Amino acid sequence: MLDIKVTRTATPKAKPEGKLGFGKIFTDHMFVMNYTEGMGWHDARIVPFSDISLSPACVVFHYGQEMFEGMKAYKGADGKTYLFRPEMNAKRANESNKRLCIPEIPEDIFVEAVKAVVKVDEDWIPTEEGTSLYVRPFVIATDAFLGVAPSKTYLFMVILSPSGAYYSDGLAPVGIWIEDDYVRAVKGGIGYAKTGGNYCASLAAQVKAHDAGFSQVLWLDGVERRYIEEVGAMNIFFKVDGKVLTPMLNGSILPGITRNSVINLLKEWGVPVEERRISVDELLEAQQNGKLEEVFGTGTAAVISPVGKLRYKDDVMTIGDGGIGPVSQKLYDTITGIQTGKLADPLGWRVTL
Ligand SMILES: *Cc1c(COP(=O)(O)O)cnc(C)c1O
Repeated sequence: MLDIKVTRTATPKAKPEGKLGFGKIFTDHMFVMNYTEGMGWHDARIVPFSDISLSPACVVFHYGQEMFEGMKAYKGADGKTYLFRPEMNAKRANESNKRLCIPEIPEDIFVEAVKAVVKVDEDWIPTEEGTSLYVRPFVIATDAFLGVAPSKTYLFMVILSPSGAYYSDGLAPVGIWIEDDYVRAVKGGIGYAKTGGNYCASLAAQVKAHDAGFSQVLWLDGVERRYIEEVGAMNIFFKVDGKVLTPMLNGSILPGITRNSVINLLKEWGVPVEERRISVDELLEAQQNGKLEEVFGTGTAAVISPVGKLRYKDDVMTIGDGGIGPVSQKLYDTITGIQTGKLADPLGWRVTL
């Protein structure tokens, strides 16, 4: 058991009213823990949410040594608070940590920290359909040192943000831009780690896609620019001729927990799933032959994001009838049902606080 010192705020904020949006409102408290070389992780605490003070020379500001995670807490109709597969986030955090030379956080401590801070701010979890409390654990390197070396001190923090329904009027298809110039990651790089640097590398293409009227970027591999990787903050799936295809984990894409859950559910349902290399030509051909039945992204924020339109160079493909495919809808209903306690949880994914 982690000994967590809790200091409650003397000035609780008013809870937000109306539309919540995403990532702009924070709860009353946050979890903080320090790492010091020789001491390990220490001083676990929950304190009032506030700005923090750091030297402008901190390693994180100059060389980007940082890791983050993303998960959600849900309030069920039964009044209970649920997390979804938090041990998977803990495990992935350490895969990122290892790649980034950040000290590992024992997985039980990671989960305990998340549970403890969510518990303190439990009454911030919104209850309307589709809403949740977004949980953002992260580590930053805090040595005040301009030399390039792994930091010897770190901060692990968990902040919480009540978030609105991703889709206010039910699932809605998005338009995706297949980027053929910029790349996000290469094998051997940090593509599989959840870290700010990957997002920084993605911004220019995202701006380009937005300017052209598309909401997200689909990345191709960094060497041949031929094989499908993933979307901005989502993994990607294609239903082709009755089979569901998704790029295999190859070191340059993020191993999404929603991705893993979708693969498991499809297998349970007896839908054939293939994790392998998928070329953009294969998709264009499937589309020409009328076999590209559904395309959807998977990630914690949207859960399932149906793709209605895919652009590649001069081609703009409309997927199916441009609406929401039956497999996308069923996956969305099932995963959100499990997360919020509406459906049975045969795979043991839901964790009650
Ligand atoms: C977080 C993330 C995902 C989705 O992962 P989930 O665990 O399903 O939320 C996909 N791609 C990238 C680049 C990510 O950072």
